[in-house]
Amino acid sequence: MPRSQSNRLSINGERMWATLHDLAKIGGTEKGGVRRLALSALDREGRQRFIDWCRELGCEIEVDGIGNVFAVLRGEDPSLPSVMVGSHLDTQPTGGKYDGAYGVMCALEIARGIRDRGDVPLRTLEIVAWANEEGARFSPPMMGSSVFVGNLKLEDVLAFKDVDGVSIGSELSNDALVARAKGRGPRGIAAYFEAHIEQGPVLEIEDKPIGIVTGAQAQRWYDVSIVGTEAHAGPTPMDHRKDALMGAAELALAVEAVARRQSPDGRATVGTLTIGHPSRNVIPGAVTLTVDLRHPNDDVLGDMDASFRKAAREIAVARGLRIDVGDFWRKPHVPFSEPLMKSLEAIAGDRGFATRRITSGAGHDAVNLAASGVPTCMVFVPTKDGLSHNELESIKQDDAVTGCDVLNAAVLDALNARR
Ligand SMILES: [Zn+2]
Repeated sequence: MPRSQSNRLSINGERMWATLHDLAKIGGTEKGGVRRLALSALDREGRQRFIDWCRELGCEIEVDGIGNVFAVLRGEDPSLPSVMVGSHLDTQPTGGKYDGAYGVMCALEIARGIRDRGDVPLRTLEIVAWANEEGARFSPPMMGSSVFVGNLKLEDVLAFKDVDGVSIGSELSNDALVARAKGRGPRGIAAYFEAHIEQGPVLEIEDKPIGIVTGAQAQRWYDVSIVGTEAHAGPTPMDHRKDALMGAAELALAVEAVARRQSPDGRATVGTLTIGHPSRNVIPGAVTLTVDLRHPNDDVLGDMDASFRKAAREIAVARGLRIDVGDFWRKPHVPFSEPLMKSLEAIAGDRGFATRRITSGAGHDAVNLAASGVPTCMVFVPTKDGLSHNELESIKQDDAVTGCDVLNAAVLDALNARR
């Protein structure tokens, strides 16, 4: 179907919004948030509700060994690669109603619209609910999609434990869905779409209802160890100190400056800092801290890395400290599909919605799909005050419907594309 035609087929915004809020009752908190920790009973209940809604549409349900759920609406030619749309249903311990759930409910609404019209698109539509995206109880995050694309091995992941020593394998053995899981059918994926709340303030500040996500930031994480000399706080003059904490303080400010020099896209965070043997009247002799550097451009991030290391060397010399910068983890920039971004922009433009290209600051399952070679794109909708991973997380109904509407048109185009 040509785009102009699919553009006229819109979604039932009221139904999508109502379903999203029905789902939020499962694990709903007093403050208006949601707590559905991955692999918990409430998470299973949420996923089961989603499955029930999909079965009402005649979707076939496929579940894999980590608990990713694929609701399959067969197309006219099931031999063609499918179009996959979704997000996640798990939340942070004090999470909101929209992070993840919004994207899955958008996908469900697209399928409902297809059924309302009695259409059978050319390609198969798969609605996916990825398992353990948040990584709040079991690390790492984006676990389900990482296993799906082969970045993590299922047998390794099953042995991962939470802080109480409970393994993922033992939790999944209580999950009837996973116990019966036969895995996902052998289908190629023509395109992956995900709608998500922005989780930052940019769209709201610029009054743009739609963010077209260009991909994920490149990231580098470090473990830093600073060693000086423990000494008595009283007798030791300031000029005779090798104070590891003051070195850490100077380094933290240097790290901040590294990101500020790459404004507005550079990011730098010192997220943890620990003093070895802390005592009120001892000059700290050992400090460990973590550094997280991000930028959308790999080359710029490489420059930030070099500046950070240079600052560490200079501070070490000036203060007589030993500073070791250890590489903990790094991830390159993952670009999303330019043709899909353009298609989403054209659809939004036809409908009179302002868009803005935006790099995702947070990790998303879509990044795993894109990195594995699947043409991928995401739509962001504005988040009130940029607040997410918070029970007060909020989005406007109009924005939610606009995002779903634009996504719907792009997905219908992809479902009916011959190639
Ligand atoms: Zn999310």
